[in-house]
Amino acid sequence: MEKDVIIIGGGPAGLTAAIYCSRAMLKTVVIEEQSVGGQMVFTTDIENYPGFPDGVMGPELGGLMEKQAKRFGTEIVYETIKFVDKNNKKVVTDRNEYSCKALIIATGASPMKLGLEKEVELTGKGVSYCATCDGAFFRDQIVAVVGGGNTAIEEAIFLTNFASNVYIIHRRDKFRAEKYLQEKALKNEKIKPLWNKVVTKLHGDDSLSAITIKDVLTGKEETVNLSGLFIFVGYKPRTEVFKDVVDIDEAGYIVANEFRQTNVDWIFAAGDCVKKPYKQIATAVGDGCTAAMSAIAYLES
Ligand code: NAP
Repeated sequence: MEKDVIIIGGGPAGLTAAIYCSRAMLKTVVIEEQSVGGQMVFTTDIENYPGFPDGVMGPELGGLMEKQAKRFGTEIVYETIKFVDKNNKKVVTDRNEYSCKALIIATGASPMKLGLEKEVELTGKGVSYCATCDGAFFRDQIVAVVGGGNTAIEEAIFLTNFASNVYIIHRRDKFRAEKYLQEKALKNEKIKPLWNKVVTKLHGDDSLSAITIKDVLTGKEETVNLSGLFIFVGYKPRTEVFKDVVDIDEAGYIVANEFRQTNVDWIFAAGDCVKKPYKQIATAVGDGCTAAMSAIAYLES
């Protein structure tokens, strides 16, 4: 199948790139593995994306971006990338083989795990990486969130809509999250931070029943009975399949210049899979726009 531009990933970066490319009358396909919207699908109230003074739910914003891209003719397919042939400008998926003139990689990042025994086994049975998806299962129950970044604090606040108590387990005595979020969380009487603590064990066979936490200063361990553990300890870039295609740094992020062009002239990259300081929906959208405009300029040159 021949396309002008292939965009891999349907999050805010990929969908913005799709809006620009298809509006430039380029035959554009977005290849998405899971669900369009990227991490927005797993995000609750987004309060800092311009244009939504009362905030917007992540899945709704993702849906609006998808609709806008489709309006200009973007095709969206659900396939898994197997291989990029950089010599012949081909992208091979589990179902098709595409050729293109320019490629934009916008695969984003996926949640990091704690690496605990039983973590995989108990995922979906008390352990979760998505409060939007699973929060409602924990009505009037005790849950804990792990992490101290924006995601952990935002999702802890969201979980108070359902849970009776929300512990925030953080390995330091200060959150990394923005001050506004910290204050909002600490004012909420359902939220209790557990400072300087890490989770060392998950208990339960069919479902999570308790966790062991350790104080990193004293080494003292204690058991906390709860039914939900929401883990938000950062993300890792989804770039494994591109490691022999474009330059990638030691942490797995794609190296791209200010035009979002990689070391391969017809391949561009945008969003959370790119090496850059700030990862926000707004910066992903900016990146998608830059990558698309650079790809359009490349095709016109
Ligand atoms: P993050 O900012 O990297 O924070 C990860 C948190 O997890 C940190 O508090 C870190 O602790 C902790 N952590 C990491 N590894 C751990 C481990 N093994 N055990 C226990 N704790 C661990 O990740 P994020 O909150 O998911 O945010 C990712 C990016 O998206 C950030 O750039 C963030 O600003 C952005 N974001 C923005 C918004 C918003 O603007 N509304 C919302 C969500 C995300 P330390 O603090 O000690 O390192």
